[in-house]
Amino acid sequence: MSSYLPLQAEVIDIDVESSNTYLISLRILDDDRSLVYKPGQFLMVSVFGLGECPISIASSPTREPLQICVKEAGRITRGILSCRIGDVRGIRGPFGNGFPVEKMKRDVLITGGESGFATLRSLIDYIVDKREEFGEVTVAYGARTSQDLYFTSEYGGWQRAGIVVGMGSPWM
Ligand SMILES: Cc1cc2nc3c(=O)[nH]c(=O)nc-3n(C[C@H](O)[C@H](O)[C@H](O)COP(=O)(O)OP(=O)(O)OC[C@H]3O[C@@H](n4cnc5c(N)ncnc54)[C@H](O)[C@@H]3O)c2cc1C
Repeated sequence: MSSYLPLQAEVIDIDVESSNTYLISLRILDDDRSLVYKPGQFLMVSVFGLGECPISIASSPTREPLQICVKEAGRITRGILSCRIGDVRGIRGPFGNGFPVEKMKRDVLITGGESGFATLRSLIDYIVDKREEFGEVTVAYGARTSQDLYFTSEYGGWQRAGIVVGMGSPWM
């Protein structure tokens, strides 16, 4: 797909991750164009009349739907987050190299902080779905406060897949 031509993506679900961060599920409306991506890549997400900004893909390519996790920062992220279910946003991409998943098929340590964890969730879910291809997997994740930890409801599933999950904040 041309990385200059935005795809139309319909907002199909919105979940709260923290006070100013939301997980948005998207469905691509252009039937004849698909988005092929790797964990670690990002999209340019646009709001008509405002512009576009880079947002990591938070979902694994092994799963549907396509998801992005957006934290309010300024004008464009506020515009993305003003969406309601059924609204349409533009997406271009994917961009970036993504994680070298083929070279990672051994023991893996995944470490990240706060909003940077969105792109790591894509990698973790990818590993969960191809668990037998990887060795021991450990996730170490931190945030300023426990309210700023994302995807807390998903740690149990990762642990059941044999992933060691350590997370925390200075206030925990
Ligand atoms: C590769 C990549 C991946 C990313 N992935 C994600 C992701 O998954 N999720 C996510 O939420 N974000 C992600 N980001 C960050 C996101 O792109 C930025 O938060 C976004 O571009 C901000 O745009 P904005 O218009 O909302 O904010 P802006 O209006 O650009 O404001 C950003 C910050 O600058 C400050 N600011 C703005 N104007 C001024 C000024 N004149 N003087 C002083 N301060 C000012 C604002 O107060 C705010 O704190 C990613 C960035 C990159 C590069």
